[in-house]
Amino acid sequence: MTKKYKRFCINCGKTGLSKEELFEGLCFDCYQEKNPLIILKKQPIIHLCKNCLAIKTKKDWINTDQLNFYEKADKLLNEDAQTYFKIAPDITAEIRLDKSSGIQDLLQHNTINFEINYNGKVHNLFEINEIQIHSAKIKLDICENCKGYKSEVSKSKIRIIAKKRNITESEIEEIIRLFKNSANIYKDPNLYILSPILSKTELIFRVSSIDFARNIANQLKSKFGAVIRESIKFVDREKSKTKKQDLNILIRLLPFFPGDVIKYNNNLYYIISIHENNVNCFDFKAKEIKKFKSKQIINGERYLLKSKLEKFIITAIYKDEIQIMDLKTYQTFEIEIKNQPHLIKINEGTEINGFREGENLYLIPFIIEGSDVKNE
Ligand SMILES: [Zn+2]
Ligand SMILES: [Zn+2]
Repeated sequence: MTKKYKRFCINCGKTGLSKEELFEGLCFDCYQEKNPLIILKKQPIIHLCKNCLAIKTKKDWINTDQLNFYEKADKLLNEDAQTYFKIAPDITAEIRLDKSSGIQDLLQHNTINFEINYNGKVHNLFEINEIQIHSAKIKLDICENCKGYKSEVSKSKIRIIAKKRNITESEIEEIIRLFKNSANIYKDPNLYILSPILSKTELIFRVSSIDFARNIANQLKSKFGAVIRESIKFVDREKSKTKKQDLNILIRLLPFFPGDVIKYNNNLYYIISIHENNVNCFDFKAKEIKKFKSKQIINGERYLLKSKLEKFIITAIYKDEIQIMDLKTYQTFEIEIKNQPHLIKINEGTEINGFREGENLYLIPFIIEGSDVKNE
């Protein structure tokens, strides 16, 4: 048996409402229209540095970069949500900027749209989950950091590229972290670092200290085996006898990573480790470990990614031969031990990484895999 309710809304006339479904004589829809759950009180303003995309808050400028701009901007807007909106109790609201326009485009616009998603249970009865679209004003300015950078005499540009490949996300993260940590250690009040320009093909950092730029370059050299080229430009400053010195540093990251196989001078090498500006390799032809300077081997070609290496297993060891099986095809091979003097310390069941190229089988001596070769 269903109960019949006789109550109705005095505004729209909707009938069949229970006592709980009426609010001050109105149905829920009409009540909500007269008492909105969220009301825009004040249009949000996003105060941006047109030079570096830093966002101004009441207290400070918050640095952002192209990767985290929207995340940080959303967070700041949400922190001030109560300033912009009157939000009914029991309702939670979340502001999300429209991320469809490129960040550089933002600087060409006066406003940006955002949605506010609000939800909750109203009067313990109605589940609400709605979205409204509003817009925020964009106000452009120049942040303290950029003003400071501009006032410094000498400037450095650090351009980081990777040879014959894209810069990986983890490299970008690591490099940004390196700048931040180094700036904290450096503690120079005249050091200004502009927000970097980041893309898959190059990273550009501008800093106001030549010393700091060199320090960063050296760290990248030792960490990534990067190859560095410096060029200094002397520029006469207007109305002054002192010379302005600008330093450009080009940093080239190696085209490969430890664990990759590369082709260099028509020979195949397995990259064991990269340390300072030395690259330790296993030479498949000579079957020995070789050490190259980054500067030379940066011209090598990535031949096989670490992830593309195949697994083999030693199935039997005889006097002069070992039998090995390709774990993907289950094909077995016999190889003469005297041709593989580097395969020491193997047992039956030992798994070895390697790859095949035509008739040739290349095995990576497992004892050196991933281990750091000491400088002799
Ligand atoms: Zn109604
Ligand atoms: Zn700025």
